[in-house]
Formats: sequence, structure tokens, C-alpha cells
Amino acid sequence: MFGTMQARIAANVIVTKTGCHEWQGKKVKSAGGKFYGRINVYENGKTVSKLVHRVVLELTLKRKLRANEVGMHQCDNTICCNAKHLKAGTQTANMAEMVQRGRDAAARRKQAEGK
Ligand SMILES: [Zn+2]
Repeated sequence: MFGTMQARIAANVIVTKTGCHEWQGKKVKSAGGKFYGRINVYENGKTVSKLVHRVVLELTLKRKLRANEVGMHQCDNTICCNAKHLKAGTQTANMAEMVQRGRDAAARRKQAEGK
């Protein structure tokens, strides 16, 4: 099943110039207005809809994500499911990284504008 799931995911992504594997299948919009890919997974005798990037992470880590863990996108592209762009972390760490990246981007913009 391991190879089958990865093949199913690989067949549903487009690889971008930045190396992101953008999910082309079903997507859901999060409370924050971001889109996440979803995939149906057969688990414990029933079909459940799961977030693709979490499925990819679990395949990569070879374990289930814990309840307090989120799949973090290093590339900020939420429909990306490239294992190399993902890591598991806590929600707190995820927020801190997003703030940090935002600050970095703002600093770069200011520098570019000569402020
Ligand atoms: Zn990516």
C-alpha cells in the first residue's frame, strides 16, 4: 500500500519551478483562507478524507502525526505536498516561523525600496 499511495499522490501533482508538488485533486479552504489538498484514504476498514500534506508526512516519517503536530510547509505553498518541503512541528512553531518569514519578507521589501 505504501507505494500505491505515493504513486496516487505523484499522479495528482504538478511540479513547479520552485520544486513544489502542487496538488491538483480535491482541495479544501481552511479558516485562514488557504487551500489544502485532500485525498481519500482507506484506513481501518473505512474511507476517510485526509489532508494530502499530512499523508505525505506520515509516509515520510513512517508514523502517524501526533494530535498536537501540524504539517509545516517550508515553502508557504499550502497545496504543495513535496516531502522535502514539509516537516512536522507544533502549531506554535508553525506560527512563529510564518511570522519570521513575514518579517524577513518585509525587511527585504524595505531594503529594495531603499527605506
Ligand atoms: Zn513546496
